[in-house]
Parts: sequence; C-alpha cells; structure tokens
Amino acid sequence: ESIEQVIDRLCVKIPDHPDPGILFRDLTPLFADSQGFTRTVDSLAEAFEGQFDCVAGVEARGFILAGAVARSAGCGVLPVRKEGKLPRETYRQSYQLEYGSATLEIHTDDLARGSRVLVVDDLLATGGTLEATGQLLHRAGLHIAGFGLIMELTDLRGRAKLGGHRVRALYRV
Ligand code: 5GP
Repeated sequence: ESIEQVIDRLCVKIPDHPDPGILFRDLTPLFADSQGFTRTVDSLAEAFEGQFDCVAGVEARGFILAGAVARSAGCGVLPVRKEGKLPRETYRQSYQLEYGSATLEIHTDDLARGSRVLVVDDLLATGGTLEATGQLLHRAGLHIAGFGLIMELTDLRGRAKLGGHRVRALYRV
C-alpha cells in the first residue's frame, strides 16, 4: 500500500463542516493508526532529509506532526502558537480567515538566526496559515527549508502563497 493509499483510507470526509458547503478532511484516524502515523511522519522527514535543523508546527494539529518529525530526524521543535500563549517577546503575524482574522506568534529567540526550519501541518487549503508562518520565520532571521503537508487541496492554490519555497504534500486532491 502506498502512502497515498494509506492517507486516502484513513481520511474521513465530513460534509458541511464547519460551515455549509465545506468538505472537511478529518485526519485523526490517520494520526491514531500506528502504521499510518509512522509512515506519514517518516515520509515527511525523508522528503526534506538533511535540509533542516528544526521543525516548526502550527498549533494545534501541526504540533502532533512537528514533534514526531523532529524526533524522526533527531532535531528540535519550534511551536508556532495562537496569540497570547507565549510568555516572552514574540513576533506576531495576523492573516485573513474566511470570516475574520487570526494571529500567530513565535518567540523571537528560540532559535539561532540562520537555522533551517521545516514547517509541517496537516493540510494546505488557502495557504493563509502557512504564509503567515513563513513571514514569522523570515522576521526571526530563519531559513525556510520547506513546507511538508499530509494533504493539499490544489484547487485553492495555497501553494502560490508560499513564496516559491519547496512544498511537499503526501496527498494532493
Ligand atoms: P489555510 O490557511 O491553508 O486556508 O488552512 C489550513 C489550516 O486550516 C491548517 O492549519 C489546517 O489544519 C486547517 N484546515 C483547513 N481545512 C481543513 C480540512 O479540511 N481538514 C483539516 N484537517 N484541516 C483543515
């Protein structure tokens, strides 16, 4: 079974969630499956092997992946948090959601400038979340090694917002 087949089998499609007309892809069964999770994490780490010193994950589903990918590669984790959670000086970046906006933060000094950071998340939709994450890393003087996703919704063209950086999605739909 290929990694695409594993993801397809363990992704549950939820119509009209969280809003009418949206088909939400729930990946929690993939996270819960020992083979599915291990292969997903190892595939993301392998796709960027030797190219990163740290893994950034976006709260909250990205945290699950980032810690595991970092452990697989033997490196550390940079948490990208929702606003108001980090206790020291931060960079803040707001971005548009379908309704309203959201703000992400990182500590200014968790990583040495010039560190190579791989960003991971479960799913790329419009790209707003990862665009904001890239802007935060840029402001902190970090090098973006690339973006690793489990799933990419290609119709929404989120990839175009990611500034020509390397994007690897294990499953594209
Ligand atoms: P974007 O900013 O690219 O529009 O949305 C991506 C963010 O929203 C990701 O952090 C992702 O976790 C979440 N997201 C949006 N749509 C879905 C979906 O259908 N399934 C899952 N699992 N997450 C989604």
